[in-house]
Amino acid sequence: MTALSPAGRREAIARMAENELDILVIGGGVVGAGSALDAVTRGLTTAIVEERDWASGTSSRSSKLIHGGLRYLEMLDFGLVREALRERGLLLDRIAPHLVRPVPFLYPLQHRVWERGYAGAGVALYDAMAITSGTAHGLHHHRHLTRGQALREAPCLRKDALTGAIQYWDAQMDDARFTMTVVRTAASFGALAANRAKVTGFLRQGERVTGARVTDLETGEEFEVRARQVINATGVWTDDTQAMADTRGHAWEIFGIIVGATLPFVIVATVALGILRATIAGDAVIAFKDFNVAFQAIIGLFTYTIAVVIASRLYQWIGVRVKERG
Ligand SMILES: Cc1cc2nc3c(=O)[nH]c(=O)nc-3n(C[C@H](O)[C@H](O)[C@H](O)COP(=O)(O)OP(=O)(O)OC[C@H]3O[C@@H](n4cnc5c(N)ncnc54)[C@H](O)[C@@H]3O)c2cc1C
Repeated sequence: MTALSPAGRREAIARMAENELDILVIGGGVVGAGSALDAVTRGLTTAIVEERDWASGTSSRSSKLIHGGLRYLEMLDFGLVREALRERGLLLDRIAPHLVRPVPFLYPLQHRVWERGYAGAGVALYDAMAITSGTAHGLHHHRHLTRGQALREAPCLRKDALTGAIQYWDAQMDDARFTMTVVRTAASFGALAANRAKVTGFLRQGERVTGARVTDLETGEEFEVRARQVINATGVWTDDTQAMADTRGHAWEIFGIIVGATLPFVIVATVALGILRATIAGDAVIAFKDFNVAFQAIIGLFTYTIAVVIASRLYQWIGVRVKERG
């Protein structure tokens, strides 16, 4: 493993400013750290910069669970649960057994029969999926508890607040330490990692982002990092980072707002004109019973929907990518 030392940081900054990289990751939370590790282990030259400290954002403020997604079973999203259980097993058994540990949960039951059956079936399925995918190592299976047993597990619960409970197991980790370990592992594979390095702007060639301007907050020096791909992994700061990168996004956003704001008026005007025409023509029945008016209203609504969908998709497409070459 590579130490994330001051000397290592200085060297990383010097090297990331030297040659064009394949990947520059902005943001040293778990998403940025994971992206950097993924990229560098694919043989790509990679750098990761973090404004504050590793995991100083959301990645040190989570509930710290490595869970298999029990609640997604209620949404019948079996694929997601299977994937999460597989990841949980990998983390527990192979990737980070020193950071991830089993943790018991108590699911209190308030209704006597149906709730035990309903919740019990869900938890049993959860355990069964973990067992059949071979990922339940080290975790106990769930068990049904009477009220007395539940109160022995959690004596602070009010006696009259539950009729019993189900105990099941998931996993928990130290999220900040976990993230920092991922950064360190990425660095050990050759990723250039610098914390206290803030992205203040982007380098561009035409519409394309070709790197970033970074300020070393330790020295105050500014340097440029050129990269074929820039990954924006700044979590809740994504909009701020995106705003530095994407002036076109704003143009499309404004376009979307204009489309959204004006088209209802266009439809109303179209329908009103149809009614007026029908009235002038002396039709006895106007408004939506009139075929022409109804037809115009449908065409108007259709046009409105299509225009809004196209506008929002364009904005989404432009907004989601930080930038790609070519
Ligand atoms: C209350 C809560 C509980 C949660 N519980 C769980 C849980 O139990 N299990 C679970 O798996 N997930 C949980 N999550 C979700 C998980 O915490 C987040 O999905 C994850 O931490 C997001 O990581 P991130 O890397 O995207 O963002 P962050 O960790 O916020 O990382 C973004 C980083 O970008 C940096 N940055 C911003 N701007 C710049 C810039 N200009 N230049 C350089 N760096 C910059 C920031 O300093 C920050 O460190 C929880 C989330 C919340 C809010």
